[in-house]
Amino acid sequence: MTATRLFAHHPRQWQSNRYVYPVVSRRSRGLSIGVNLNPDKICNFDCVYCSVDRRSPGDQRPVDLAVLETELAAMLEHALGGGLWLEPPFDTTPAMLRRVNDVAFSGDGEPTSCPQFAAACALVARLVAPHPDVAAVVITNATLLDRPAVAAGLALLDQHRSAVWAKLDAGTDAWYQRIERTKVPLDRVLAQLAACGRRRPLTIQALFFAYQGVAPDDAEVDAWRDRLAWLLAQGARIAQVQVYTTARATAEPGCVALPAERLEAIADRARALGLAATAYP
Ligand code: SF4
Repeated sequence: MTATRLFAHHPRQWQSNRYVYPVVSRRSRGLSIGVNLNPDKICNFDCVYCSVDRRSPGDQRPVDLAVLETELAAMLEHALGGGLWLEPPFDTTPAMLRRVNDVAFSGDGEPTSCPQFAAACALVARLVAPHPDVAAVVITNATLLDRPAVAAGLALLDQHRSAVWAKLDAGTDAWYQRIERTKVPLDRVLAQLAACGRRRPLTIQALFFAYQGVAPDDAEVDAWRDRLAWLLAQGARIAQVQVYTTARATAEPGCVALPAERLEAIADRARALGLAATAYP
């Protein structure tokens, strides 16, 4: 498997594991150990570009934290001990990426919607504590960050090397509703991003693509930039902006990746605000 195919190879199933899976990621610059708190496939967004296959029902059992702990401890040992790099497809990983970057809450839905989110944060914080080079990352659509249990979980992770990677894909309500298909207003997402970003630096994840023949135009991208500027004006810290595009099968047909030069032009809008921005074609 080539490195390019390896990056596009993100199954959330690893052997017989229920929750924990390894992924080599360009955005992590190494191995990201995924923690899927949503085998139930629950999400309060219905993104047209979602790569979760919801044609089959999810596993509705509550997350079993004992099983999660066993899986995560074993995966950390396997990866940090080097055994993972001997197994296909990870044996094709370029040498510079053969490092464990993070344990990331990411999976088949919105991790902060999981009732065991705070307890899972405590578990992850405890298991990564002996490994200061391994960060704990929460990948979120930023709609539930004001829930007390979610805030408590993030506060636990704040005591360790950690990061919140939050979605902001749109500048206008029209594009937001068109691609995210949610009842949560964009203004509410922005308010939560601002509050979260005042407590810890955010990584903003922005997925831009064409949908049913329409790509975000300059006005849309300018509106997105203005949302970033508003967050900064609110006191939010933004460590980096990741601009990327569709790379896998999507929930709806008609999602088409944008070319590298357009992604760079979008990243330039964030750079013009003084932000560190990277485009991932
Ligand atoms: S927020 Fe993530 S999991 Fe939820 S629908 Fe969108 S892409 Fe899928």
